[in-house]
Amino acid sequence: MKEIIALGLFSGGLDSLLACRVISSLSIRVVALKFITPFFDDHLRKDEQTYRKSIRDKFDIDVHLVDISEGYIELLRKPQHGFGKNFNPCIDCKIFMLSRARQLMQEYDAAFLFTGEVLGQRPMSQRRDTLRVIERDSGCEDILLRPLCAKRLPITRPEREGLVDREMLYGFTGRGRKKQIDLAARFGIRDYPTPAGGCILTDKNLGMRLEQFYRRMSGEGDSEIRVNDIRLMLLGRQFQLSHGVWLIIGRNQEENDRITQLAEKGDWLMIMSERPGPAALLRRAAQNVAGKSHETETVHFAAGLICHYARKIDGRIEPGEVIVDTGEVRHTVLGVPPPKDSPLIRPL
Ligand code: SF4
Repeated sequence: MKEIIALGLFSGGLDSLLACRVISSLSIRVVALKFITPFFDDHLRKDEQTYRKSIRDKFDIDVHLVDISEGYIELLRKPQHGFGKNFNPCIDCKIFMLSRARQLMQEYDAAFLFTGEVLGQRPMSQRRDTLRVIERDSGCEDILLRPLCAKRLPITRPEREGLVDREMLYGFTGRGRKKQIDLAARFGIRDYPTPAGGCILTDKNLGMRLEQFYRRMSGEGDSEIRVNDIRLMLLGRQFQLSHGVWLIIGRNQEENDRITQLAEKGDWLMIMSERPGPAALLRRAAQNVAGKSHETETVHFAAGLICHYARKIDGRIEPGEVIVDTGEVRHTVLGVPPPKDSPLIRPL
């Protein structure tokens, strides 16, 4: 008999763990898809194999990472269903993930898709009408099963065709967690993550920072936003200098290293030459600074800001030499810290 395969959306939270285990308990092979972007679970890409092994060992689930960064960055420009409380486009996010999962069905020879959604658990994205919008707009009507609340939803194709016994599914609703916790105990699942989200789009401050960034980039004729832009946006102190120049200054060694790693062709890297200080990046300087009438002013101003955050001398903020590395040449400029009341020493 042909093996039945189902693809599940896997956040790593309890509901998605349970959904995977419910489906695999019906003798169906489950492939759990973990979507990654710079906004959530980006760190997993560094060591995919270790992550997969840990989920297999702990929960007996076969998880695969799927990078959706590029399309997702574009989605955030104007999500059709708007944003939640912060910069989180939860409905469009689910539609996007499900559309991608649907495209992967052929590759995995999957018969249907499933999620761990629970009717009424989240105010925006798990209302009955929203669940319907999500399946309609992702093109997943009839092939999307929600095993934790299926008994409260219309019957789907995998149930009709006998691939899944509806009687073995659940009818959970609402925000309570008790039923899920009981079910986890029945499956022997312990040590599962708490419901807190790992998605920075729901974070008030970072969400605001990203929103401002998107507004700025859209104001520049919908400039291309790259994955590394987002990674840089989430690091260090951020400055918007005059003429639309973007400066990032590290706050500690880890951020300094990260800024250095993320530098791309056309970015100018700046570091102190004579005393410890932060690494800084003038993003897209080859395009926005080099050869412009404001080049000298911009570079000196950035160097001054770097000195402001560098190690003090006898407790005082002092000028210092800063190396500017354009990727082609290196030269040194004298940075003079801006006056204390300068609005630019208050980062974005
Ligand atoms: S919290 Fe983040 S990852 Fe989750 S649905 Fe909303 S936008 Fe997507």
